[in-house]
Amino acid sequence: MTAQRALVTGGAGFLGSHLCDALLGEGYSVIVVDNLLTGRLTNLDHLRNEPRFELKQLDICEPFDCGRVDYVFHFASPASPVDYMAHGIATLKVGSLGTFHALEIARKYGAKYLISSTSECYGDPLEHPQKETYWGHVNPIGPRSVYDEAKRFSEAATMAYHRYHHIDTRILRIFNTYGPRMQVNDGRVIPNFMKQAIGGEELTVYGDGSQTRSFCYVSDEIEGIMRLARSSEHEPVNIGNPNEFTILECARRVLDVTGSKSKIRFEALPQDDPRQRRPDISKAKRLLDWEPKIDLEVGLQMSLHYFQTAALEQKVRSI
Ligand code: UDP
Repeated sequence: MTAQRALVTGGAGFLGSHLCDALLGEGYSVIVVDNLLTGRLTNLDHLRNEPRFELKQLDICEPFDCGRVDYVFHFASPASPVDYMAHGIATLKVGSLGTFHALEIARKYGAKYLISSTSECYGDPLEHPQKETYWGHVNPIGPRSVYDEAKRFSEAATMAYHRYHHIDTRILRIFNTYGPRMQVNDGRVIPNFMKQAIGGEELTVYGDGSQTRSFCYVSDEIEGIMRLARSSEHEPVNIGNPNEFTILECARRVLDVTGSKSKIRFEALPQDDPRQRRPDISKAKRLLDWEPKIDLEVGLQMSLHYFQTAALEQKVRSI
């Protein structure tokens, strides 16, 4: 029997590249397509000599075909607020045209399909914690709308291909995830704080730091994704860590783990920054028998070496 073949769009990104490792570990052959807008080849360097791995540099906003596949994992999109606001139109296109093209591949080859969606579908949520049944509180024209609406559209397109074309689809709602291979300058809170703490710079807390997020370590996230991929659930499933922290608490954890003496500097809160975010994961627990195992302190400790090296490399490049 030939190995199952998986397509990972955005496989050079943070989560996409970890997903490739997990799929190869399960015996899949993997083909990545990525235009490297925010993904990086270094995330896949370790797979260069892997015979079951292929990489094609292309833009999925144009129709494409990379041969028969059994599973499509659609992960291509800028994902940090700084990146998706810098590349707003590309973000809208990859979440609409790119999503259609990825769905068409699944349709053509009768492949299973999993789309990476986001807690941003809930916007600045009025329901807390967020259950999958909550429809959200999203500003459709604000600066974050390029990402939020692209992902909401992607979910709608995925459900439509399921309903009208009977594609075997899954919708993953990812909450804040961190760990090795994040871009140290992608502007997200953990890379920023780690880089600042390691470099002895002030930690930039936006607003008064009372807004909350719930951080999931990457290995927990990937385990949840693999379990969802094996399931037959077609409606959205939250995969995230329900332990909630204020951003100020998060800054303190980073200072503890790095042993840094950096001070905190308060800066303006970006427009439409969600006040609170925490996944209700009872559905994932029930359906997938999944819950995260790694606490924030432990995950930050496990990421420390990566961020130290990445921060140093960035400093050397900027000299
Ligand atoms: N944040 C911060 N300082 C930073 C970067 C982010 O205080 O240097 C805050 C940001 O305003 C938000 C939270 O941290 O409230 C998480 O931001 P991130 O960009 O990581 O992702 P988001 O959860 O907003 O998509």
